[in-house]
Amino acid sequence: MMIKNFIGGVWTASHGTTSAPIHNPSTGEVIAQTPFSLASDVDTAVTEAKKAFASWSRTPAPKRAAVMFRYRDLLEQEFEALAQLVTRENGKTLEESRGDVRRGIEVIEFACGIAHLLKGESLPRVAEHIDAVTMREPLGVCAGITPYNFPAMVPMWMYPVAIACGNSFILKPSEKVPLTAIRLAELFAQAGLPDGVFNIVHGGREVVDALCIHRGISAISFVGSSAIAAHVYALGCKHGKRVQAAGGAKNVLLVMPDADPDPTLRAILGSSFGCAGQRCMAGSVLMGIGKATADEWRERVTSALSTFRVGDPAADTTADMGPVIDAAAQQRFQKYITDAAAEGADVAFDASARAPEAGFFAGPALVDDVKPGMKLFEEEIFGPVLSLVRPQTLTEAIEMMNGLTFGNGASIFTNSGAAARQFVQDIQAGMLGVNVGVPAPMSLFSFSGWNESFFGDLHVQGIEGVMFYTRQKCVLSRWDKSYVRAMGW
Ligand code: NAD
Repeated sequence: MMIKNFIGGVWTASHGTTSAPIHNPSTGEVIAQTPFSLASDVDTAVTEAKKAFASWSRTPAPKRAAVMFRYRDLLEQEFEALAQLVTRENGKTLEESRGDVRRGIEVIEFACGIAHLLKGESLPRVAEHIDAVTMREPLGVCAGITPYNFPAMVPMWMYPVAIACGNSFILKPSEKVPLTAIRLAELFAQAGLPDGVFNIVHGGREVVDALCIHRGISAISFVGSSAIAAHVYALGCKHGKRVQAAGGAKNVLLVMPDADPDPTLRAILGSSFGCAGQRCMAGSVLMGIGKATADEWRERVTSALSTFRVGDPAADTTADMGPVIDAAAQQRFQKYITDAAAEGADVAFDASARAPEAGFFAGPALVDDVKPGMKLFEEEIFGPVLSLVRPQTLTEAIEMMNGLTFGNGASIFTNSGAAARQFVQDIQAGMLGVNVGVPAPMSLFSFSGWNESFFGDLHVQGIEGVMFYTRQKCVLSRWDKSYVRAMGW
């Protein structure tokens, strides 16, 4: 079945003549087709979104919030069905899909109260007879381009905030997982959102580039890999748009000798193998400080992985880990393991051979003796492989981490306040955990990658999201008594 674009409140066939299959990654079965829409589809969506913006931007903020409240209720009613849909097209376990949807709903809850953040500032009598007031205004038509790994949460980082601020929005979901976005749009319409405020155009590069250059679009939000983030940032900025572009990551989990073993092990397994490692906040490198700590954690992780259950999360609800997204990701994973061995690393554990035959399963794996300069250390893998690195001191570990090109997240596990403090102060990354394996900020805070993990100034979500989707007017008014006299009152 070819899925449709959602433009001006109508499900419309794309004008594209090519398409990509949407798989159930757990079985390999093709469940639908995503059309590669054309620039002309983007143009129609912009026209409709512009029309809708004229009245939506003038709708009082509390009335916009009322739609958000209804939307939240509908999402709660559909919560389980949405989680199942995420599992079907992405492959993550049902528990992980519930987390994906829950984190998205939290952004809707944030958006319900956004009117409070749209208030301006005022200073009466800033000069003789003159009052100053600032007000926050929406930008116009905004667009979002999203990756495959969080089909619910990542789109919801963007459009609820933009729309609650008074903008209209065009979403280009990942062509690999567009079905969740379609359901999210249906529910938003059911909540009473006027036609054209939220639109979806499916596709790939042609749609992305058309959004970046279209004169009718004011702002672009992007989440995906760093190479494409850099491309979208450059193209969007060149065409006069505000752009926020979140990219890839390489997150380190640092274990000190005094870490609490059980909670630390749970955090490492969840961080590195949750969502089959396909998380921009996934722990990709484990650093054990000193030989004894590294040896101890090699043993702990290997022994935990040997009882790990990998399988189709829909058929086996107790599976610890689902598949990776597609055959290309599966092959990329195997190549990293083979290359690591060739580079001199020690493949301590790889369960790929035990994986179910159907579907796109890989790992989990642990590779020891990984060093800076090796591909497993430097590159984003985005799969269920954890590299063990063996620095001698905390200072050496921090230097290694700060040599990475990314800067999304990092975590330390320790009972020492002094070690935690040195780590927090010295690490060059935007989201840090102290005894927390996935330090992903909730919707009240912005998602704050640094270095090549982010291109732009204002991050997604939280107050920076509101600033990104609005611009400020400053009004100076002069009313002195001469006007009263002139009117003869
Ligand atoms: P991707 O970069 O391949 O795709 C992201 C989006 O860009 C998709 O909508 C895709 O259709 C589009 N796209 C792909 N190639 C393009 C091209 N050549 N030109 C224009 N657009 C193109 O990313 P992905 O594989 O879907 O997702 C995984 C990546 O996303 C990882 O790198 C991960 O770290 C990153 N990610 C980052 C964050 C964050 O907050 N920093 C969050 C989630 C995922």
